Amino acid sequence: MNFNLKSIIPEHIAELIPYASARDELQGEGSVFLDANELPQPLPDMPGNVNRYPVEQPKLLREKLAAVKGVEPESVFLGNGSDEIIDMMMRCFCRPGKDQVMVFPPTFGMYGVRARVNNLEVITADLDEEFYVKPREALSKLSTGTRLMFICHPNNPTGNVQKTETIRELLTHFKGIVVVDEAYIDFCPDQSVLPLLKEYPNLAVLQTFSKAYGLAGARIGVAYASPEIISVLEKISFPYNLGTPAIRLAEKALNSHAIYRMNVESIRASRDQLADIIASLPLTIKVYPSHANFLLVKVADADVLYRHLARSGVIVRNRSKEPGCQGCLRITTGTAEENQLMIQAWKSFGTTKLLQRDGTGSVTGPKQQSKHEMKQNTSDSQKAREATIQRSTAETSITVRIRLDGRGYANISTGIPFYDHMLEQIARHGMMDLEVDARGDLEVDPHHTMEDTAISLGMAFRQALGDKKGIDRYGFELPMDDSRAKVLIDLGGRSFLKWDVPFSGSAIGNVPATLFQHFFRSFADAAKCNLHVEASGEDDHHKVEAVFKAFSRALKMAVARNHSDIMPSTKERL
Ligand SMILES: *Cc1c(COP(=O)(O)O)cnc(C)c1O
Repeated sequence: MNFNLKSIIPEHIAELIPYASARDELQGEGSVFLDANELPQPLPDMPGNVNRYPVEQPKLLREKLAAVKGVEPESVFLGNGSDEIIDMMMRCFCRPGKDQVMVFPPTFGMYGVRARVNNLEVITADLDEEFYVKPREALSKLSTGTRLMFICHPNNPTGNVQKTETIRELLTHFKGIVVVDEAYIDFCPDQSVLPLLKEYPNLAVLQTFSKAYGLAGARIGVAYASPEIISVLEKISFPYNLGTPAIRLAEKALNSHAIYRMNVESIRASRDQLADIIASLPLTIKVYPSHANFLLVKVADADVLYRHLARSGVIVRNRSKEPGCQGCLRITTGTAEENQLMIQAWKSFGTTKLLQRDGTGSVTGPKQQSKHEMKQNTSDSQKAREATIQRSTAETSITVRIRLDGRGYANISTGIPFYDHMLEQIARHGMMDLEVDARGDLEVDPHHTMEDTAISLGMAFRQALGDKKGIDRYGFELPMDDSRAKVLIDLGGRSFLKWDVPFSGSAIGNVPATLFQHFFRSFADAAKCNLHVEASGEDDHHKVEAVFKAFSRALKMAVARNHSDIMPSTKERL
């Protein structure tokens, strides 16, 4: 071991006098804070204390993480996402225009990008065909100014982990810092190299709240390293790199251990099932084994499949231009429902292509059908869940066509623009296809048209659901500006409406306010469902819209197929 931290700290960093914030200079116990030019009073309806600057490197969160990970709090640094820490490592230990960093393609693109931003040369040492680091070759490519090595473990986009011996070998012979990016380690915690921290002063481990902890939007990354390395990060850090809400959320996530474990377990199980299914799909050449929450899949025609999936609304990552990843897509494990949509979209590609190929109409995949496919073909989960209802009364004539497993397509015409807009929400937010053509006695009033449309919609819905296999009770709550709405739905067979939506005006978008309750009652009756609707807020328009959106989301959840024959449902895992 010949690592000397001082020797890799650039002069301008070693000599840097860090910015001292107001709170840094605080002495004694204050209760009147007139030192930081903040707004003195908190804002209403905002997280507490956001009028104040956050605490720098918050002690509680650091201590919690230290305890969970079995390290000292001085070995923990919190970043604005691990992206920030990747960049900071370069600014701490590399001289722009002079030094180099080493990366192992195919890998996370951020390392190369931040290196170029910091005017650092990128030395690459390609992974072998199974995506393992070749340590000898890597060490032989080092140059005197190589300060950092970035090892992604599990690797993005390949999903594999590196051998501990390899990482040890690099740590032993490299005179710079080995940064091991463990963004996905939550999915394979026993592979973490954190225990090596005690042995190697030139190891830095990056982890994040963005993946398994479900806080990608909060931007919280963590570095674990020797207190000496951490103190250099602290020296150059923006004083308030983490916002108070993010800090709170991270603390909360750490306390929700049961949910975290359940999520990790369920993603791992879905990932493995997804891997089996994808292996049997047409065009698949290889599904690489994964330790993370995504799969790298080599397919016969990656660009074309990628575009086909995107046209179906399913976005995956096309990695086919990455070295060693020719023909590869990276697919994140989604919910059971999302995975199923992806599989369906993929299959529709295979079918059209293959039909064209042999011209006979018989679908022959390049591989034998797997157990999974046979099962799906014989189960009713492949039946299209759609219905068309045509109803005419003295006052109205209505056609409703619905497809439950749709893409949010809507074609609505009732003659009442505001009502059209609300029905469109059902399609869009419920991810159903919906066509409504209603002609009613609008010259009298919108009452009959709305009521009869709701009845037809409820009937169509019920018919499309068929035997209700895999259906349960669900609910959804959402805010919309000043308003919030909650809708609970039970498709168990009895009609009931509980309505708690006070309106301040008598009409909304030219529709009498009372008709909305009427709409949901008619729907509940016709669909034979139990519906609870609550909303509060000031603006009637927002309230109604929030109700329709929450209703759509609740419907979407309620009709989601229970893929027990293919995928675990979240419910079964609870
Ligand atoms: C997602 C990801 C991260 C996380 O970055 P954050 O800035 O913490 O969101 C880091 N490294 C890799 C390899 C990733 O894939």
